[in-house]
Formats: sequence, C-alpha cells, structure tokens
Amino acid sequence: MADTDRETPGVPEKGEAAPKDKAEPQAPARVLSIHAHPDDQEFTVGGTLAKWARAGSALLTVCITSGNAGSNDYTPLAMTREALAPIREEEQTNACRVLGIPEVVFLHYEDGMLEPSIALRRDVTRIIRRYRPDAVVCGDPTVRFYGANYLNHPDHRAAADVALDAVFPSAETRLIFPELLDEGLEPHKVRAVFIHGSEHPDTFVDISETLSVKLAALKEHRTQMGEWDPTEMITGWARLQGAPRGLAAAESFRLMRLHES
Ligand SMILES: [Zn+2]
Repeated sequence: MADTDRETPGVPEKGEAAPKDKAEPQAPARVLSIHAHPDDQEFTVGGTLAKWARAGSALLTVCITSGNAGSNDYTPLAMTREALAPIREEEQTNACRVLGIPEVVFLHYEDGMLEPSIALRRDVTRIIRRYRPDAVVCGDPTVRFYGANYLNHPDHRAAADVALDAVFPSAETRLIFPELLDEGLEPHKVRAVFIHGSEHPDTFVDISETLSVKLAALKEHRTQMGEWDPTEMITGWARLQGAPRGLAAAESFRLMRLHES
C-alpha cells in the first residue's frame, strides 16, 4: 500500500488511544510552530517553546494571517485592517523574541476568512520543506467547541487542518506539489506533531520554569490586551493542564509520532 493511501497508520482501534510513554519528550532539534493569528502561539504553547529554546532547539514561527481583524474589545473604531497588520506583526515578532524564537514568517492571508485551501497547503508545505523541522506544533482541527462558552475560531480550525495536511502527505511525498521540486525543495519527513488544544491530550510539558516567560511574551500583544492582565487566567490554564500528571504548570498535547528518529 502506498504511503499516501494510508488512512489509519498504527491506530489499533477507533477511539482507542495509542500507548504513550509518560516521560516528557526531549526538546526536538528543529521546531516549526504554525498558527492562524498573532498571539495564538503565546496563549497556547509559549511555555513549551520557551523551554525548548532554552534547551537549544532551533525554532521558527509561521503566522498565517496578520491578525488584522483585531479584537472586539480593544481595537479602536478608527483602526483599519491595513493599519493594524504591521502593528500586530511587530507584536508577534517581539513576542517570539521573548520566547527565544528569532524569526516569524507571515503568510498574509486574511484574518477571519481563512480556508484550508490547496494554495495555503502549498505555502505551508514550502516552508516545511525549506526549514526541515523534526517537529511541528499546531492546533487541533477537530475541536469545534471548547466548554460551553467558546466556539473555536474558524481560522484556528483551518490553520490546524492545513498544518497537518502539509505535514502528511504533502511535505514528504515527492509528486505532491511538483512545482516545489522546481524550487529545489525536496520532500521532508516530519517526525512528530505536537497538537495543542486537544480534548484527548497524552503528552504533558512541565512549564513551571517558563510560565513567566510565556506571560511576558503574551503581554507583547499590546493591541489585544489593553489593561487586562492575563496572569490569573494563564496560570489557571497551566494548573488545569498539569493536573493529570501532578504538575503545577503544564501545556498538554496530543503527540503524533509519524517517523522514528
Ligand atoms: Zn486566534
């Protein structure tokens, strides 16, 4: 069976979680972090990325939109999409610097209108083949609702869908997007995908040492925060996510290991 035809590789039974090592995974050597908007990364995985940066990982962030639809609460009525984009890009770049991520690639798709298109999948595949990460970090496209108060943003679902579809099969299959071969971009196999926001997490990263860095990075998104201090909420999330492993502060993931190293 061709690799590209596999539908359920290594999954024992529908709904049955694969057995997992409870030890925290080592920091991957090269990490690509893919998100829809500026600040998504800082809210969700900032502690983990800061920890990995300190452990010596090389990291690159991809921000698919520039977040220029803004925030209902804090974007001034006189603000335009055109004026807001460079401000939010600068905030994202500064937040990454706080986490230890030296570069952000912005793809300039429209905030609030993201679709899991083939064009976007090609763009993300191009970055994967160029950067050649061991691990990709992205969201969970299957989550439609979080609790009873938050409808997952459609851009988050689209970005996560595209990230996963670019990892497999596009990045590793030679004749998908053959135009990328013309750009000199050979296939690349991503070994692991860390999926945040999953309702079935199986992997927990202790962020007690980097929770303060996560908060500092989040505060760089000044246009989104106003006077609000996210400390209490983020600390509460970290406590909740760490609870299944008895950790005071964690970020949790569903970990897909696609290829052994
Ligand atoms: Zn977002």
